[in-house]
This record gives sequence, structure tokens and C-alpha cells, in this order.
Amino acid sequence: TAMYHAKAHGKNAWRAYTPDLDAAAGIETLLRGAVGRGEFELHYQPQFDLLGRQVLALEALLRWTHPELGSVAPGRFIPVAEDTGLIAEIGAWVLDEACRQNAAWQRLGLAPVRVAVNVSPAQLAREEFVPQVEATLRRHGLAATWLELEVTERLAMREVERTVTVLRALRRLGVRVALDDFGQGHSSLSHLAHLPLDVLKVDRALISGLGRAGQADRVAQAVVALGRGLGLEVVAEGVETPAQLEAAAALGCGRAQGFLLGRPLPAAEVEPHLTSVPELT
Ligand code: C2E
Ligand code: MG
Ligand code: MG
Ligand code: MG
Repeated sequence: TAMYHAKAHGKNAWRAYTPDLDAAAGIETLLRGAVGRGEFELHYQPQFDLLGRQVLALEALLRWTHPELGSVAPGRFIPVAEDTGLIAEIGAWVLDEACRQNAAWQRLGLAPVRVAVNVSPAQLAREEFVPQVEATLRRHGLAATWLELEVTERLAMREVERTVTVLRALRRLGVRVALDDFGQGHSSLSHLAHLPLDVLKVDRALISGLGRAGQADRVAQAVVALGRGLGLEVVAEGVETPAQLEAAAALGCGRAQGFLLGRPLPAAEVEPHLTSVPELT
């Protein structure tokens, strides 16, 4: 969160005092050109429906392996990419690669699934974002319905009017919009009702309280009910135990994602888990 404080209080306000200064500067240098050097890869984590246990969607999660640093967690480099503007190039690569891969799977005759792509506030704020999404879908011949974009609350609440306009334009294309990590940090319930969304992803922090007695459990219940009340499809994130899965199903979550059901995997390892469309004979 240090980077977000830095943004709120002027670009370098926080950095000057953080012991991570050198690490962040180092990452920035190494991150430059990483797209061109082919250092990124997408892993895909399945989202299952809670009844049929069928893969409905795959969330694309960015992986960076630097030749010397080894693998660097997104939590470390995404904030640096956002602060330096590198996220535009990296985000464009992610979007392109996820759409390319999903279209390729469909061409192989696998049952179509949605691919969910995380979008940073800085990407969504760019004028060219909506045309970029449209062009990417067209380039790969992927129907918009098979793309879901995950935006965060952080973004959504910052500039509500502008965000609403962009999300509307995306939905007009036929792309689905999910609000990620809901219930984490400062949730704004009043804004939620105004955002044009299809999906609400309930944060792992809330899901972890499910299936245990106590307040955490009640908050999760209330958030799922809120999402359903707004007509949204609700996804339980970070499901790690059978008890959490059962509780999420009982509350009416439509999809579940988490280590219990499947970890993020490289495309080649995900493929065998996707079902083939039965051949007509
Ligand atoms: P997120 O979008 O909320 O993604 C879910 C994160 O939770 C992933 O971490 C995933 O590996 C992890 N996760 C999934 N199930 C479980 C579980 O059962 N237990 C636990 N403990 N963790 C689980 P990851 O891959 O490290 O990504 C972290 C965050 O980095 C993402 O959170 C997202 O905000 C950001 N990120 C990842 N890829 C991209 C990207 O391509 N673009 C942007 N802008 N952000 C990305
Ligand atoms: Mg996400
Ligand atoms: Mg999330
Ligand atoms: Mg998260």
C-alpha cells in the first residue's frame, strides 16, 4: 500500500522515507523493456460454478521472471509499473496475450470460457483504453462476451463519473466488468450501486471468515447479499477450505476461485482441465 499513499500525497512523498526506495528504483530499471525481452508470462486460475463444478472462467495473472532476480510477485512490481507509467505497455501486453490465448483455445475446440484480465486504474484512465480493448478483440477474433475486465474499488471510487463512462462503453462492446477485491479496505457502498458492473468479486479477506461463527462470517454474508441484491454475479475469491466453499454456495455465490479449486497455472498446464466440446457425429 505504500505506493498508493505516495500517489495520494504527491508522487515521491512516501518514497523519500521508505527503506524500499532502492528496491523500487531497481525494479523500475529492470522492468523497463521486460515486455520486449519476453520476461512476462500469464498464468490462469480457474473459476468454477458452484453446482456443476465446471470451469466458467480463467483469471489471467501476470508472472515476471527476471534472469537475475528470478520470479517477482505482482504485488511488488505492479505498483512500480503503475507509478512509472510502464503499466500502459505491460497492461496492453497482458490484454493481448489473454485474448490471443483464449481465442486459440476456442479454435482448438475447447468449450469456451471467459478470460478475466486485471486492469489498473492508470490503464482505464487513458483515452485510448476502450478502442484498445476493441482492437485487441478484433485482432484475435475473440467475441467480447469471452472477456471480463477486473477493476478495483480503489479506481472505481476515485473518479466515479469518468469510471462510469468508461465501464459503460466497455459493456456496450459486450465485455463484462467485474469489481475486484470487494470488501477489502475502504468500501464505498453508495458508489457501488452507481457503477455499471456485471460481477462482484468478494475479497479473500471476507471469504476466509466464512464457515466460522462470528462477525467476519456475517460481513461476508451481507456483502454477498448486497451483490445479489444489485443483480450482480458474485464470485467468492480465495476459497481455501471445503467449509468456505459450502458457505459460499449456500449464500448464493455463482462462482468460486481459490487454491482449494485450482492454483494459477501456465497455459499449457491449464489446457487439459478445459473440456472439449463434444464432437457431432
Ligand atoms: P487479484 O486480482 O485479486 O488476484 C488474486 C490473487 O490471489 C492472485 O495473486 C492469486 O494467486 C491469489 N489467490 C488466488 N486464490 C487464492 C487462495 O485461495 N489463497 C490465497 N492466499 N491467494 C489466492 P497474484 O497472482 O500474486 O496477484 C496479486 C495481485 O496482483 C492481483 O490480485 C492483481 O491485483 C495484481 N495483478 C496480477 N496480474 C495482474 C495484471 O495482469 N494486471 C494488473 N493490473 N494487476 C495484476
Ligand atoms: Mg483480479
Ligand atoms: Mg481479487
Ligand atoms: Mg487481490
